[in-house]
Amino acid sequence: MTNKEYADFLLPNVEHDMDYYEKKYPYRDLKEGAIVTRYAPSPTGFVHMGALYAAFIERKMARQTDGVFFLRIEDTDKKREVENGIESIVRDLNNFGITFDEGVVNETEEKGIYGPYIQSKRKDIYQAFAKYLIEQDLAYPAFETEEELKEIREHQELVKDRIGYYGDFAKSRFFTKEEAVEKIKNGAPYIIRLKSPGDFNKKIVLNDAIKGKIEMPENDMDIVIIKSDGLPTYHFAHLVDDHLMRTTHVIRGDEWVSSAPIHLQLFQVFGFKAPKYAHISPLMKEENGARRKLSKRKDPEMAVSYYHEKGIPNEAILLYLATVANSNFEGWLDANPTGKIDDFKMDFKKISPSGSLFDLEKILNLSKNFISRLKAEEVYERGLAWAEEYDSEFADLLKKYKEYSIGIFDIERNKKKPRKDYTCFSDLKNQIWYMYDELYHPNKEDFEYQNIKDPKEIETILSTYMEKYYSEEEDEQTWFGHMKDLAAEFGYAREVKEYKNNPDQYKGHIGDISMVLRVALTTKSMTPNLYDIMKLFGRDRMMERYGLKK
Ligand code: GLU
Repeated sequence: MTNKEYADFLLPNVEHDMDYYEKKYPYRDLKEGAIVTRYAPSPTGFVHMGALYAAFIERKMARQTDGVFFLRIEDTDKKREVENGIESIVRDLNNFGITFDEGVVNETEEKGIYGPYIQSKRKDIYQAFAKYLIEQDLAYPAFETEEELKEIREHQELVKDRIGYYGDFAKSRFFTKEEAVEKIKNGAPYIIRLKSPGDFNKKIVLNDAIKGKIEMPENDMDIVIIKSDGLPTYHFAHLVDDHLMRTTHVIRGDEWVSSAPIHLQLFQVFGFKAPKYAHISPLMKEENGARRKLSKRKDPEMAVSYYHEKGIPNEAILLYLATVANSNFEGWLDANPTGKIDDFKMDFKKISPSGSLFDLEKILNLSKNFISRLKAEEVYERGLAWAEEYDSEFADLLKKYKEYSIGIFDIERNKKKPRKDYTCFSDLKNQIWYMYDELYHPNKEDFEYQNIKDPKEIETILSTYMEKYYSEEEDEQTWFGHMKDLAAEFGYAREVKEYKNNPDQYKGHIGDISMVLRVALTTKSMTPNLYDIMKLFGRDRMMERYGLKK
């Protein structure tokens, strides 16, 4: 039996051979240095922060080099699949502006000429490549049952040998073609394994774009390439897909570093040029003085939905991820406050080779800065979109008082150093509830009066202000002049400085007086600009808040 006949016998019904696919998927005609890379999730339907971080870097590197970023779905492990997994992955990423040039679009559509981009639809291709290895005597059928593999492992543990299927432990390697055929004809189930040419005592070097040179022993394990269901393992699918899809850079989580010797060996036995690898370290969390990987199970902030619920703008998350990826990004952004991430040049070499600490506080800070630079109308629209999903009472108020609400968001906004009241959209109501009569039900003790506390004095200040000094029409300067007049009338200094120079001559200063007007209106001792707030209220609502007859 020739090797070719043997390969046909082991993997029958394979339509095309390897050469066919080599020709079908041409080399990409891209400019020098263009990065072709991919996001390759299993369709478990859940994009978490770590995955978003990887996808963000992948897209950015492809974009900035005029390369290609594509989506491939790795669904050869049928057990892990969930329904609509693909759609939720695409949707979650699109929400963050992470779009693909090529690959899977949804459960049924894809774009690009290097497909199918869903692994379970590529069975014939993998098998064509496996047949080539069988023909080269670099792969063989293996017959061990789960039980037998377990026995090998237990023996290795007992004698403290390396665990795995290699060397003399790889029993099936030693069957002749005829013996193997005989077994199969008798109904023995089998898988296909690589006949590893590696030597564990020799070293290979991985030149990782992020981690630098890593020396590791060669792979000598006869790893599985085709499973009993005819589908490939991750290792083999990676070789076939990234070769045929003409991937230049495999950017992936660093849990794969230890598999790199297998991958480099696979490229080597086929005589293909291996892609460049860039292994990303995980996002870490500090807990009880120790660092650990951010975990899907333990950390709610690992889920991207967490940020959506809080109403943290996606842009802020992306800014954060850029900061984590390249620490010089922050300085760049300070120098270019209106700059876009797309304008920043990211560098593999500046990505931390060890885990970066995940910093929720920093995200909140970026979010606050981002919101402070939006137009009031945008704060309104985004705040409303958030509220419609999570707080219908507030959404109704925003809709009922649209212009008024925009007016609130506009206070101290369009300036060089805008006010930063809102950390995220779920924070809006907490900050401005007192501006809506529907939400305003304070108790006496809620009023944060400061130096002036006497109810009688407060009442007189309020009524004097409304009768004598308040005017709906005046500009801010005139308004402030009136506040000073009011202060003077009650024995308070017109200026803080004046008071400080002669504290004995005054009961206090202008700040004490404006505090009374502020607190009586809002309950709060700290609010945005009081002049703007009063403008928004207007006379009637102020009289009402101050408990005065209209
Ligand atoms: N499907 C693999 C995973 O989800 C992808 C790793 C890779 O990018 O090669 O971990």
